[in-house]
Amino acid sequence: MADENAPQGPLPVVDWLKLPEAGDPYLEAHKCTKCAAIYLGERKSCSKCAGRDCLEPMRLANRGTLYAYSIVYRSFPGIEVPYVSAIVDLEGGGTVKGNLIGVDPDPEKISFGMPVEVVYKDALGRKDREGNSYISYFFQPAQG
Ligand SMILES: [Zn+2]
Repeated sequence: MADENAPQGPLPVVDWLKLPEAGDPYLEAHKCTKCAAIYLGERKSCSKCAGRDCLEPMRLANRGTLYAYSIVYRSFPGIEVPYVSAIVDLEGGGTVKGNLIGVDPDPEKISFGMPVEVVYKDALGRKDREGNSYISYFFQPAQG
């Protein structure tokens, strides 16, 4: 008999990060079929056009451009600083906040509009009570 409490492999840090059994992880948004507004996570109605039952799941692109960022020097205990908190406009729509990695936390090295890609990695070794690890998403400067 399988132990239901046994670690079942990594869990997504947010419910809109999808980990399909086959294939690569991806971020999922919901897009309004009436006004094309895009939201992360599930919702029942569109807050832009007030449409109901018009939101369809949409797989977000893994490439985008840096819209804004902030270098964070103070955070919660156990969180290594400095790090770069970023807001990225994804190709095809969707704006996502996350950490920018793979670049020094130095304004000289980071520019608005720079191309970035979404990467999926272990969430810095954090685990829940059952010992499950988490998969998170990060941005990094686009390679080539
Ligand atoms: Zn709408």
